[in-house]
Amino acid sequence: MSKQRTYINKLPEHIGQSVVLKGFVQAIRNQGGIKFLILRDVTGLVQLVVLKSSAAFEKVSGLTLESVIEVIGTVKEEKQAPGGIEVAADDFVVLGEAAPELPIPVVVEKGGEETEVSKRLDWRFIDLRKPEKAQIFRIWTELERGVRDFFYSRGFTQIYTPSFMDAPSESGAEVFEVAYFEKKAYLAQSPQFYKQMAMAAGLEKVFTMGPVYRAEPSFTTRHMTEFTGWDFEISYIESHFDVMAELEQMLLAGFERVKTTVLPDLKVPTVPFPKLTMLEAKAKLAARNVPSEKPSDLSPEEERALYDISKEDYNSDFIFVTDYPVEVRPFYHMRYEDNPGITKSFDLLYKGIEIVTGAQREHRLDILEKQALEKGMPLESISSYLSFFKYGCPPHGGVGIGPGRIVMKMLDLPSVKEATYLPRDVKRLSP
Ligand code: ATP
Repeated sequence: MSKQRTYINKLPEHIGQSVVLKGFVQAIRNQGGIKFLILRDVTGLVQLVVLKSSAAFEKVSGLTLESVIEVIGTVKEEKQAPGGIEVAADDFVVLGEAAPELPIPVVVEKGGEETEVSKRLDWRFIDLRKPEKAQIFRIWTELERGVRDFFYSRGFTQIYTPSFMDAPSESGAEVFEVAYFEKKAYLAQSPQFYKQMAMAAGLEKVFTMGPVYRAEPSFTTRHMTEFTGWDFEISYIESHFDVMAELEQMLLAGFERVKTTVLPDLKVPTVPFPKLTMLEAKAKLAARNVPSEKPSDLSPEEERALYDISKEDYNSDFIFVTDYPVEVRPFYHMRYEDNPGITKSFDLLYKGIEIVTGAQREHRLDILEKQALEKGMPLESISSYLSFFKYGCPPHGGVGIGPGRIVMKMLDLPSVKEATYLPRDVKRLSP
């Protein structure tokens, strides 16, 4: 069978022709003198008909579900068949045999329940054979492509930042220590310091996409110990509002790309997104009797309630909360000159969860040092970072984005782990 392979979604272009298909055997049905197989490749499903007269007929008896085969057959229009097309199989060879018992089913029987998530994640490669699960990563691919196209068109430079650091990137908490030859190293909790260094290097606009590590013992549906972060940082901004405007355009480009390629029903947001200061958000929440745990921060319940507010008051799935108090923001967030208790910062919520944090950064060394000391950070521990601001650094700001959370909410998945190829959490280090 050395003929060129045809993908299942291209079969309508080959009616009446002989084709070679390759894929997984998703179902086998015997109906007296005829056998039916459902074959699945990366583009879709097709029914194969195996007649008694064909060389394939006897071989089907030895075939196991989910084996990988190469089939030669003839494409036919068949109204009864799913998709209106079937392939009359002449012969097939087994390229990869599956053991007779699968650890989890690929097809959930009608009325049946999906295998529970932790078992599915144990058998992730079989779980991902389900087209709807594989689709999650097509969507992520297109989202990232739209976002990258946006960065390229705006003249951003891509940087790759290291994961090993000689000191924790933000604070002592939530950091993984690793043995590094004779020393200790720490896994980066964010590329924050390195992308700010790029501003001091004069690169003006940078983005990076890479792994981020958090040693937080969280058992929520939105936290993992390792996740992919997207970050950008831009120079010569007037305020954090310039950062938010850039972020809105970036998200718009990503969502548009997803809509036009893989998810026609996706709601593409309109920009600008609604913006509330923390004080305004708290007032709106109080008016709805949503309890406030802390005056300076939002609880998950408040974030969810802000989704109702963004939908009802602004017809938006997205909402910015700006002006976080100093106590809940890191030392490097710039503060208002006339209101030093408040930072020029924001979070972006999408359907009730935080997907982005951003801010204008403090680039004036004397103020930065003062703010670090106030937060109890010994200047020696961040001396390398502080040096970025010693020899001229433009005003700048940027964001840290969690694409897993965006995909989770875009598809209304129950957890960020379902939107992650191989999630890592407190309990899970494999596969
Ligand atoms: P949260 O308050 O939800 O714990 P954070 O304030 O710690 O998040 P940042 O440090 O600002 O988050 O990280 C930037 C973005 O990275 C977040 O807006 C979120 O989308 C994503 N993110 C943060 N922590 C995690 C995590 N543990 N797992 C998955 N994504 C995360």
